[in-house]
This record gives sequence, structure tokens and C-alpha cells, in this order.
Amino acid sequence: MRNGLFQRLCTCEMIGVWSVLVATLVAVDVSAADDTQRIRYDGYTVHQAVSSSHDQFQKFISEASHIPLNFWHVPHADNDTLDVMVGPEALNDLQAVFDKLKMESKQVVDNVESLFEKERRSMHHIKRRATPSIHSYTVNYHSYSEIIDYLQAVSSSRAKSQNVHADVFSIGKTTQGKDQAMIKIYRNDGRAKPAILIDGGIHAREWIAPAVVINFIYQLAFSSDHHISTMLGDFDWYLMPLVNPDGYEYSRLRDRSWRKTMNVNAHSSCKGTDANRNFGYHWDPYSGGSTNPCEEVFAGDHNFSIPESTNLGNFMRQHGPSIKAYLTFHSYGQYFLYPYGYSSSAVAPDYAELASLARAMVQPMSSSYVIGSSGKDLYPAAGGSDDYAKGACGIKYSYTVELPPRDSVGGYTGFILSPSQIPIVAADTLTGLKAFAIELARRLH
Ligand SMILES: [Zn+2]
Repeated sequence: MRNGLFQRLCTCEMIGVWSVLVATLVAVDVSAADDTQRIRYDGYTVHQAVSSSHDQFQKFISEASHIPLNFWHVPHADNDTLDVMVGPEALNDLQAVFDKLKMESKQVVDNVESLFEKERRSMHHIKRRATPSIHSYTVNYHSYSEIIDYLQAVSSSRAKSQNVHADVFSIGKTTQGKDQAMIKIYRNDGRAKPAILIDGGIHAREWIAPAVVINFIYQLAFSSDHHISTMLGDFDWYLMPLVNPDGYEYSRLRDRSWRKTMNVNAHSSCKGTDANRNFGYHWDPYSGGSTNPCEEVFAGDHNFSIPESTNLGNFMRQHGPSIKAYLTFHSYGQYFLYPYGYSSSAVAPDYAELASLARAMVQPMSSSYVIGSSGKDLYPAAGGSDDYAKGACGIKYSYTVELPPRDSVGGYTGFILSPSQIPIVAADTLTGLKAFAIELARRLH
């Protein structure tokens, strides 16, 4: 059944078939934001505390389990920060836990709704000034249906080119029936090439990730830069801007802080699964995940319990032998992580090679990144897509990249990154990606 579905989807690498798919998916897309149904965060605050050890972080989780909290950032390592959003009614309870555990904390956002409103205003402002063009998709955050329009526009304009091709296809449908769209960009010169797989948007609210992938797509398809030309000479590129479109649309239209997918959970009124805790390589909800459907890191009832991770996992397995590297983009914190993340004792035998390729990417970038093995150097989290790519699909160079911001330069914003930052973050990350591809090609030859 699974194979049959996959075969059918693969035949969709033709624009004609894709347009039929688009007709279907527009019908399930919510096209206009309705402010009356948006969850507001008036008076909500974000607090940043330093977590000195994994033990202290675990104690915090347990002591705060009765408080309605939304984690914006969980510590990846000792002395990393814990950033947490709380409503006005639970502020005293949160402070009491900080005090009990002797955790120093500071309030970094004094009204979350203002932060969200500011982002909406910036998006509106950029949209009003934009002249319609393919390039205009790269400088703002967009709806799911706009992202699909963009992929189609890239594909049809490249179809006129003799050199570079861009095929759009679906790897499967989400819980709500949206297509998980991927684009393959390649030069058709009759040579079989190794591939690089890039995705973004597994976590709904981390909007900079899809925006950066959208920028990569633009550069690969249209740039005349000689590095890009070399990258297309050396590799086929699979790019998926939005792994979790259901959650993304919900974060745009209803709840800006939404992280998970949108599946209904048995015996619970809480929706959604953390897709990046649901992949089936050493899946373990007790390692950085949760068995509680109301938690943001709910790992699912079993591995691959949701279509978003299942479809991507199938794609990786099918194309594993040709894909040599996988980069999955998240935000925030500026981390460059490599497997394995499922346990603190699991270290990839070739970790030194993974670390050195990560350093090659980060070296020419202007943003600094912490590079580390997910579980060994940093706190473990099982069920991640990077572990599955490497452990189950044999994709040697597999990474999770947590994009900016890290620090509070210009004021703390967490995962709310002004759309005016998109071109800056995308250009810097592209500089790193060029170095990554050049070094990977050198290693493969
Ligand atoms: Zn994430």
C-alpha cells in the first residue's frame, strides 16, 4: 500500500499532474486570516532562565508540570537558557518554581501580543510595497497556498530553460489533506549525480526555516553565480520548504506559538504531534519527548504515527542511496547538530567527519553557530528526522540547523524574526551552503 502510494506520487513529477493536485489543495486551504479567531496573547510574558545542568532542567519540568507554559527554547546544554512563555494568571507560580530551584531569570518579552502584532504589521508593510514577481516570494513570510504558487512559478519558468530543471511533486498528504510539496532542481546533462535533501518547517512556528529554503530554491533555480552553477553540476537538489503545512497554517491564522502538526489524538482534546519526535529510529518519548498529547513535544503514540513524518521518512528511505546529505532547518539558537540525538551515549562512528563538514559550512558565515553531536554534547531528543536519515536511510551527512536569532541584539524576539531579516539570514546561510556543497563534492570524489 505504502509502496503503491509512493509510486503514484513519483509519477507526479510532471507539471500537468501537479496542477490537478493544486486544484485539490486550494480547496482545503484557509486563504484569509480571520482576526476574530486568532488566539491573543495580551499580557503574556516570556522569561529566560539559565539552566545549569540537565538535572536542574528535569527538575524544572517536573516542578512546573501543573503550570500552563509554552516553551520557546529548551536548553540544549548546561548553562544554556530556558525561554518560557506564561500567561498573567500563572506568572507567580512560574516565579515560585524559579525561586525554589534557585534559577536566575529575567523577563525578556513584556507583552507577547505586541511582538506578534509587530510581525504582522511588518509583513503587511512589505506585502503592500512588493511588486509581483517570483523574487517577491523570497522577502516575506507566505501562506501555504502562496508557497505552492511559488514552487509552480519556479517550475514553469525553469521549464523554458534548456539547462536547469525544477520539478514539483508531492511526497504525500498531511492529516488535513494538504500536499507535502517538494521541488527537485537539477541540471539535465545526462550525468547521474548524488543528491542533497533540504527541508524546513517541521515545527510550525519556526517561519524563518521555510523562508530560508524558499530563498535557496530561488538561488538554485535562477542565480548566475558560478558557485551555484558548480553546485548544480555536482548535485541534484531536493528541497521541501514546508514539511508541516497544517501546523504552519494554524500558526499563521490561529495561534502564532503553535509548534506541532494538527492530528486528533485518541482520548485527548489536545491536538497535534511533535513531528520531530516521531521518526522511527530509536524512537523514545522519554528521551526529550513526551507521552502527553497536550505537551509541545508529544512524540506520538508510536513512531511514524502521523503522515508528515511517515511521508518524509518514506522519501528518505526510497532515495537514501543517492542522497549524500540532509539538512533540516529549524529555529532558533544558532546550533548545528549532527546525529545521534536519541541518547547521550549514542555517538556516530564517523562523528569527526560530520563535525568537520559542519565547520566547513559555518566558517564563512557571519553568524556564529555552536556545532555538536545532538545527544552526546547536547541534551538528547529521540525521534528526530536527522537521526532517521542517518541511522535508517544511510544518509551519511545529516544535520539539524537551528537558524538565528541567538542573542537579544535589538531586543529579544525568540522565533519571531522580522521579515526584514529574511534576506540577511538567507544570504548568510547560502554562503554556508555553498561551502558545504563544495566540501562535500570534494569528499565524494
Ligand atoms: Zn524546531
